[in-house]
Amino acid sequence: MAERVQNFINGRWVDSRSGRTFISLNPAHADETVAVAPDSTMTDVDDAVKAARTALPAWSHMPAPRRGELLFKVAELLTRRKTALGKLVTREMGKVLPEALGDVQEAIDMAYYMAGEGRRLSGETVPSELPNKDAKSVRVPIGVFGCITPWNFPTAIPAWKLFPALVAGNTVVLKPAEETPACATKMVELLEEAGLPPGVVNLVHGFGKTGEALVNHPGVDGISFTGSAATGRRVEALAAAAHKACSTETGGKNVIIVMADADLDLAIDGALWGAFGTTGQRCTAASRIIVQAPAYDWFLARFTKAAGRLKLGDGLKSSTQMGPIVSKAQYQRVLDYIATGRKERATLLRGGRAYTKGECKQGYFIEPTIFTDVTPAMKIAREEIFGPVVCLFKVETLDEAIGLANDTVYGLSASIYTRDVNASARAERELDTGLVYINASTIGAEIQLPFGGTKATGSGPREAGGRGGALDLYTKWKVIYRDFSGTLQRAQIDKE
Ligand code: ADP
Repeated sequence: MAERVQNFINGRWVDSRSGRTFISLNPAHADETVAVAPDSTMTDVDDAVKAARTALPAWSHMPAPRRGELLFKVAELLTRRKTALGKLVTREMGKVLPEALGDVQEAIDMAYYMAGEGRRLSGETVPSELPNKDAKSVRVPIGVFGCITPWNFPTAIPAWKLFPALVAGNTVVLKPAEETPACATKMVELLEEAGLPPGVVNLVHGFGKTGEALVNHPGVDGISFTGSAATGRRVEALAAAAHKACSTETGGKNVIIVMADADLDLAIDGALWGAFGTTGQRCTAASRIIVQAPAYDWFLARFTKAAGRLKLGDGLKSSTQMGPIVSKAQYQRVLDYIATGRKERATLLRGGRAYTKGECKQGYFIEPTIFTDVTPAMKIAREEIFGPVVCLFKVETLDEAIGLANDTVYGLSASIYTRDVNASARAERELDTGLVYINASTIGAEIQLPFGGTKATGSGPREAGGRGGALDLYTKWKVIYRDFSGTLQRAQIDKE
């Protein structure tokens, strides 16, 4: 049965002032409505931002360990609800249940990790060059954050943004993806249940115009965006013009390099997971596989056969290995890319069609698709497809492989399979991506290290944990000098 979800503004669940709604569907059975959600206007965004601004002073002055304790409660609630939430992720977004549970687990991990940050959030205390003076730096919150999230990790990505923003003392307005409003609502319900004060977290559902109203709102101090490259660029430009803190995480054209000396069975497993896991709808999905010539024919035959055996269907069924594409629009986009690949004269080795057998006839399923004879200039080799479509390339040398891997505007994730320690060291150094995997697929980031990429993949501080991670996005530095000498002391000038 369809669930009616609402906006959450100043601690109250409300509809849009417009009275308009939109629906989310189950992509495995597109005749099933999952949720009816408010289509929010600028006025709704304004209400939410005002609530966040009002809540800011008290929240930012609350001791950070206390904010952390609330996040521990969120982590515990998420753990308790993991199965129910995982099933909702599968119903609303389509990924298979084990992956949906992984999505929720990532949110749990982030809640525990960021809860711990409540007792760290450390700055520096350094000696002053002058007597009777001390010097320190402290992290302070940015203010009100607008968080805009995509549909592919409908619980994990909101968690990646909300939890560090909150522990750092910011208040938040979340605008989740229009494809997955129910998942975002459940996340915010848990925050309410954990006892966050009214106005600290606000939720406004809607489409791109709602997101853009949030980016442009003068009461918003920072923007954290994950989504498509084109929207990310627009968000960056709007935020920069208004001097807002901003981080964007957008596209990828991730690559797996398979050297001839590799454990090739392992490489096949990694390639299948990278290309077809989450139906290719991860920012880190492998959409290019570069194989060294002596292993190419063997790899191609094995990979094609294994892809052909993947079982498509409803992700709630335990036998399903690959779920649907999230929406009709994305489904059409992926089919258009496949048509372009054929027009560009790449060889369609397998797949390439909508999959409509049996129970799949009502869903947005596409066969695992493999192209060969792809040249680097082709659109399918350059643009992010975000579906179960992969291009295979043959190279002679490691240099050629690395050159081809880096020949993209994006730079999120890259992987190399090899037993040669020198080759792996060179790849580690020379692959121009934010994430490099050795003998593992392009997928598998853990939350305790920064996540993000180079070049057009994104801008601003990285997300997730570790030095240089999300705390650099959600805080700014304040430096404090305290002079207790009782005399005028001039730095750089008064030297004894
Ligand atoms: P995709 O749907 O391919 O993931 P989008 O960039 O369209 O990528 O969407 C990601 C998120 O950004 C969604 O929450 C969407 O509503 C939002 N969004 C889309 N257009 C804009 C925009 N112009 N400004 C701000 N947010 C936007």
